[in-house]
Amino acid sequence: MNIERNIDELRERVAKSAAKSGRKPEDIQVVAVCKTVGVDEVIRAYNAGMIDFGENRAQDFLKKYENLADYNLNWHFIGHLQRNKVKYIVDKVKLIHSVDSIRLAKEIDIQARKIGKPVDCLLQLNVSGEEQKYGMDPEMIYEFLEEVSKMEYVRIKGLMTMAPCECPEKELRKIFSRTHEIYVDISKNSMHNINMDYLSMGMSNDFEIAIEEGANMIRVGSSIFN
Ligand SMILES: *Cc1c(COP(=O)(O)O)cnc(C)c1O
Repeated sequence: MNIERNIDELRERVAKSAAKSGRKPEDIQVVAVCKTVGVDEVIRAYNAGMIDFGENRAQDFLKKYENLADYNLNWHFIGHLQRNKVKYIVDKVKLIHSVDSIRLAKEIDIQARKIGKPVDCLLQLNVSGEEQKYGMDPEMIYEFLEEVSKMEYVRIKGLMTMAPCECPEKELRKIFSRTHEIYVDISKNSMHNINMDYLSMGMSNDFEIAIEEGANMIRVGSSIFN
């Protein structure tokens, strides 16, 4: 693996796409998704300047979290989260990207209350409709936000979406620009505990398109760790 070179290349590509959409490279946060690698590779990425790391399974996350306790890393939970796993992770993560139901938000609220610390979350949307197992139907958004704004210990900080991998570029742009529209719409409303700070979209295959369409947070795994 040439993690250091990969990160350099990634930074250049991010800067180019940021410029295309009138932003600076530092406006785009990169979450290094380390689900396929071990602790040593995470440390190499950290030494090359990465601070934010993403995991998609509670079990794997907890192991890495423990083994990397000496490092000052920001952990992002990006995968489908079962409600019975919430209590193990709430006190350890900077951001949960994958909140897609009121039931899950309620469980996060309960567990975060126990530790006395609000948890930052993103609402995961399923904008493409087909094939996506997870993510909320956009029609449900306002009902969800209304409920969450009553929860003292859940803070919605933005939106996350995933596009189907085999999508043609035109379709990808549609999904990302639609999500960006929703993000802008929500930000026009003022609701307690709801802020649109982060738009998390784009992975190794599509992050350039996602940035051009408005993403300010991307989740990149295989382009870094290969
Ligand atoms: C694995 C994963 C990523 C990163 O995917 P790559 O194609 O390896 O960049 C991003 N987001 C989620 C939710 C993932 O599970």
